[in-house]
Amino acid sequence: MMDNLETLIDVRDLKTYFYLREGTVRAVDGATFSIRRGKTLGVVGESGCGKSVTAQSILQIVPRPGRIIQGEITLYQISGESGQQVTPVRITDLAPSSDRMRAIRGSTISMIFQEPMTSFSPVHTIGEQLAETIQIHHEVSKESARQSAINMMRQVGISNPERNFDAYPHQLSGGMRQRSMIAMALMLRPSLLIADEPTTALDVTTEAQILRLMRQMQESLGMAILFITHDLGVIAEMADDVVVMYLGRVVESTNVDSIFYDPKHPYLRALLKSIPRVGVKSGKRLAAIEGMVPNPLNVPQGCPFHPRCTEMIDGLCNVTVPDNLYLAEDHMVACHLYTSGG
Ligand code: SF4
Repeated sequence: MMDNLETLIDVRDLKTYFYLREGTVRAVDGATFSIRRGKTLGVVGESGCGKSVTAQSILQIVPRPGRIIQGEITLYQISGESGQQVTPVRITDLAPSSDRMRAIRGSTISMIFQEPMTSFSPVHTIGEQLAETIQIHHEVSKESARQSAINMMRQVGISNPERNFDAYPHQLSGGMRQRSMIAMALMLRPSLLIADEPTTALDVTTEAQILRLMRQMQESLGMAILFITHDLGVIAEMADDVVVMYLGRVVESTNVDSIFYDPKHPYLRALLKSIPRVGVKSGKRLAAIEGMVPNPLNVPQGCPFHPRCTEMIDGLCNVTVPDNLYLAEDHMVACHLYTSGG
């Protein structure tokens, strides 16, 4: 186990369910993982596997009719003059609309999305919105907030920030809007940036620039990143640690090298086989796995991957859910092949 100085966020047995008229969607169904301070945790899986709901749970912004029904999410905040004192904050004990949770959402953890326009109001300039973020959380003059906004715009590579301060979101290119969204998310120097498929809609060149920018900003601010993606090429470039999700469950978690050089779970192996070439965009790269992701309202009994798994053990995999097995301190897999001596 990591010590609390190294751990920023600890998620234990998280369950977030959506209660629909048609039935219950177990969007996150017992996820356990940690995010290390200053490091990048990649969360990978096909759409609908619970990646985004996991992020929403950490921020306590799960949309209705979803809610966290079990588990603990703990944030370890560093304080004290020497920066060596750790205060655990149990996020799952805080009311979503409490002042404490709002403060965490505003300044300790921030989030960027695939579509930057969702982060901005169309009727105010980019600069005004960046400056306002500072003014909401700190008592600073208008001019000082303006300067901070311009500095951050410069840091994220927005050309001519003094002039673009007065630009409206629609006046910027897709890449510049993405940079502005990153600027907005970093204005308060968060400890964790959650990035939910932030480059999926971008062309390959702009994607590479944005990923490089995120790494640079991570280095200069020392923040951790939770990077959600369906793209193992992006994982290879960005992640230190990786969590692989399938139908709401973490099926494998380990460091990035083991993901690529020592993958265990058949789902991860299938994902890896489906990449034509790491680092090259291909919208179809996950299509090579046999079958479809099952309807989340009707998750198969036993291992949820069993209808698509080429190594399924009849009478075991289709009956019993595999336990989380730690092959090493930082390598967990949930698959009967490793528990049944297979
Ligand atoms: Fe395949 Fe069985 Fe492992 Fe599930 S538990 S991934 S079905 S071998």
